[in-house]
Amino acid sequence: MTFRPFALYVHVPFCSQKCPYCDFNTYAVPRVPEAEYIAALLTEVGAFARDSRFAGRELSSIFFGGGTPSLLSPEAIGRIVATASSHFPLVAGAEVTLEANPGHPCKERYSGYRAAGVNRLSFGVQSFDAGRLTLLGREHSPDDARRAVRDAIAAGINKVSVDIIFGVPEQETGSLEVDLQAAAELPISHLSTYALSIEPGTPFFQRQERGLLALPPDERVAEMLSFIPIFLAKHGFARYEISNYAKPGQESSHNSAYWSGADYLGIGAGAHSCVTRYESGVRVSAERWSDYALPATYMQRVTESAVSWRESLDQRALQFEFFYLGLRRTCGVSLSEFERLFGGPCSEKMRGTMSDLAQEGFLEHTADVISLTESGIALSDSVFERLAGQS
Ligand code: SF4
Repeated sequence: MTFRPFALYVHVPFCSQKCPYCDFNTYAVPRVPEAEYIAALLTEVGAFARDSRFAGRELSSIFFGGGTPSLLSPEAIGRIVATASSHFPLVAGAEVTLEANPGHPCKERYSGYRAAGVNRLSFGVQSFDAGRLTLLGREHSPDDARRAVRDAIAAGINKVSVDIIFGVPEQETGSLEVDLQAAAELPISHLSTYALSIEPGTPFFQRQERGLLALPPDERVAEMLSFIPIFLAKHGFARYEISNYAKPGQESSHNSAYWSGADYLGIGAGAHSCVTRYESGVRVSAERWSDYALPATYMQRVTESAVSWRESLDQRALQFEFFYLGLRRTCGVSLSEFERLFGGPCSEKMRGTMSDLAQEGFLEHTADVISLTESGIALSDSVFERLAGQS
């Protein structure tokens, strides 16, 4: 049994409409079945409170993600926070984040979320250009986003993050600069930037198949990727992960928990969980599982078990994850930390691959710490592919 704190993720799989690029586990609904869904979440959290893998442990953070969690009322959010923290005490200063659509909540709602225990909001702004928002199928306007950030802060939620998408059809680097400038002018403490990816099954995928989506060439997307950290650094935001930037001390502790390999419990339709087993302080294996993805099935099955899929990870898989997740952070990974967590050094094969990647300019290292270079960040997927299986 371990008593390390863990992170709680609460999935809210409802949106008022589905954006044409989105492949998340989320469903457009005319009305959110709030009472039924909250009852299911409370049932699930209660079940895990009796589970020896979690009982007696503290919560390091709570994250309401989606979907659009801001479709839930402050009372509903408050019930989840209160119930979760009655079973698993929140560590002092624990981050409680809610993802919000800037077009939805009215001013009073932010005060309600704050009273419910939310101390950080993450707004899916995506762009400050009205045309690009329409192209992306977003419901809100640029002014809605500005107003939402200011209203949230006026309500006392001081930690605010915004998401920006780049690599949108026909986008130039200059228009990304306009978006970043507009975001940086707001009193936010955190920014996440994501390159648009076209996922199978989405309307954007179909449009691309028919040649109706003029995505920017890879070189332009790469130029944008290099431009973002330089621009944001001038405005006080330091990159701390491939896609995330923060003012000093404002990094997301919930997301950092994932990247550092901490345990997390996911509740709600399609939510994922992972618990690592330690022997004498050494990581030896892990269990990972996810809940039924369809909200109706999830709500129906939760009284028995909402888990629809599970897998076990051996130590070798955990060692790869140590590098795969840790290298996403600009602080990189520490080889002495690896030895402490796994009871010995990493394999010769892994060290050889890392040495090759360093010679090719994708990794840099000191005696103990290895991190991605700018080129490594730009080609991180191929770097991780080469590290896979080398542990
Ligand atoms: S609001 Fe977010 S979660 Fe919902 S469909 Fe759009 S991108 Fe997906």
